[in-house]
Amino acid sequence: MAQTTPNHTQSVVGWAAHDPSGKITPYIFKRRENGVNDVTIKILYCGICHTDIHHVKNDWGITMYPVVPGHEITGIITKVGSNVKNFKVGDRAAVGCLAAACMECEFCKDSQENYCDKIQFTYNGIFWDGSITYGGYSEMLVADYRFVVHVPENIAMDAAAPLLCAGITVFCPMKDNNLIDSPAKKRIGIVGLGGLGHVAVKFGKAFGHHVTVISTSPSKEKEAKELLGADEFILSTNAMQMQAGKRTLDFILDTVSAKHSLGPILELLEVNGTLSVVGAPEAPFELPSFPLIFGKRSVKGSMTGGMRETQEMMNVCGKYNITCNIEVIKPDQINEALDRLARNDVRYRFVIDIAGGARE
Ligand code: NAP
Ligand code: ZN
Repeated sequence: MAQTTPNHTQSVVGWAAHDPSGKITPYIFKRRENGVNDVTIKILYCGICHTDIHHVKNDWGITMYPVVPGHEITGIITKVGSNVKNFKVGDRAAVGCLAAACMECEFCKDSQENYCDKIQFTYNGIFWDGSITYGGYSEMLVADYRFVVHVPENIAMDAAAPLLCAGITVFCPMKDNNLIDSPAKKRIGIVGLGGLGHVAVKFGKAFGHHVTVISTSPSKEKEAKELLGADEFILSTNAMQMQAGKRTLDFILDTVSAKHSLGPILELLEVNGTLSVVGAPEAPFELPSFPLIFGKRSVKGSMTGGMRETQEMMNVCGKYNITCNIEVIKPDQINEALDRLARNDVRYRFVIDIAGGARE
């Protein structure tokens, strides 16, 4: 599938999975020269998203091996193409899930590139030149400047990295449901306290809402309340707690990575409430009809965010000083980190120190 293109001349050190065992090993590959619309980024940090696990293990049946995962990237600009006006060498920059889009459709024109029919992702995508995209588990990235954002000066590059996927993915459905800078205090629920979920709790509190965490992990209750500021915690495996929570929430964001039933979660919503799903288990959700129809409730999805909203989200994080709770690892610990993430053993995001602590 991969095509060799003449301008892919730059050798890059990265880390790739080669088959569905998902084992990551060092991998040297080529990137394109910096084109007129490109910036080159020396990668400092890359977050490990659960989507990386879905890809390296081919959970969704779409992986093109070898796959260099990573779409939560922060780094420093080292080169800019002649068409690039908004970045300069030395800038703190970040790249998320998106690498290319058609730039002509109604969605691209409205900077909702994430919903472009021709969207290509930062890894496991096919770029305009026919090459397979390789992600941020690597030392250097060449990116089209239209898919790059600035990192506010006051937030740390390592703890900012997961904002590029976890952050924007929860920011957009909250914005879509008028939960950002809205005067009305809402009762919102966050299902799954992982990488995405913990940022959603921080956003919910920063925007003044009443936040309930719905989790399968009793061990997360204390932290959810004391560290992340959640108001309430419902253990989803506890029938009494779920019963007591019925019809108490206006909006729920479901970030769970594994197959589960949406029925009991829907029951927690008020009449007319919305359940927004961002988690992407490989198997279909169970969606029983009664909790839907008895409460006139809606279920909708949301996929990461467009570039304007990604910059907006970064700026909001700068304004409220929101970053992620991270555990920084070295590249030779990626396999261990993926195993621990699969076992739900991380508080709350692994971030790979790609440049070995090189300063920003
Ligand atoms: P994560 O850090 O592993 O968090 C997922 C959380 O789900 C876990 O912390 C756990 O929370 C809960 N969970 C795990 N297994 C469960 C099970 N069997 N039943 C119920 N709850 C379970 O993952 P993430 O990086 O936040 O990603 C979450 C999902 O979102 C993944 O499927 C990922 O692919 C997807 N995603 C989607 C988008 C998008 O654009 N829509 C973007 C990024 C990621 P508790 O311990 O609190 O129960
Ligand atoms: Zn992700």
